[in-house]
Amino acid sequence: MSFNVFFMFSAGLQTPLKVPKGTFDAIMGEVRWIEKELGLETEQYRKNPPRWKHNDFKEVDDETLCAAAERHNAWIIMLHGQFGEWFKNPVRGGERLTPTKAKRFWHALEMITVPPERWTGDYYEERMKALYEALRGRAFGAEGMCFDARALSPRQAASVINLLSSWLDGEERDMDVPKGCDWLGSRYHGDYEYCEKCGPVTNEHVDACRKRGCPAKD
Ligand SMILES: [Zn+2]
Repeated sequence: MSFNVFFMFSAGLQTPLKVPKGTFDAIMGEVRWIEKELGLETEQYRKNPPRWKHNDFKEVDDETLCAAAERHNAWIIMLHGQFGEWFKNPVRGGERLTPTKAKRFWHALEMITVPPERWTGDYYEERMKALYEALRGRAFGAEGMCFDARALSPRQAASVINLLSSWLDGEERDMDVPKGCDWLGSRYHGDYEYCEKCGPVTNEHVDACRKRGCPAKD
């Protein structure tokens, strides 16, 4: 497993870019939000670009940290896609984002890492869904992870996640892929039920189980 580096975001903006009107303000708003939410402060040494001071997030509770990281990281991935689009197709009649202006927020285009011992159940579910997409060889939804091998089958991918669950699934969300499906569901959220004969099955499948005489046990 490896991560696609978000190249454009590693070096800073090199040339001015035409972006939709209001983009700069929207970005600054998002940056102010995350810095306030998690108590992040910037520091700058000499001529190096500013960056966030190290923060172990001890001052915020797990719920806040996970929710903030979820929103911030998704925002970066979305913004990365948009920047790619704007580089290809500069926005006519938009505003000009210059390298100087971009320096005011570039430090915030950094993913926030939450250590597994602080994961909430919801955070775990989202990470496993992204991991499932990566193991299935799909880039969309994989949050930059890519699996450097032939894609696993839905059952194989589910098995990998089941193995990891003993370390990571602290809130017993029981993620699995229902029979005949190609998505990772949460038993906690009622995405599937478990039939002793068929394994994980969707709610629709439960009726078929009953007809066949293998009642799905909840
Ligand atoms: Zn069954």
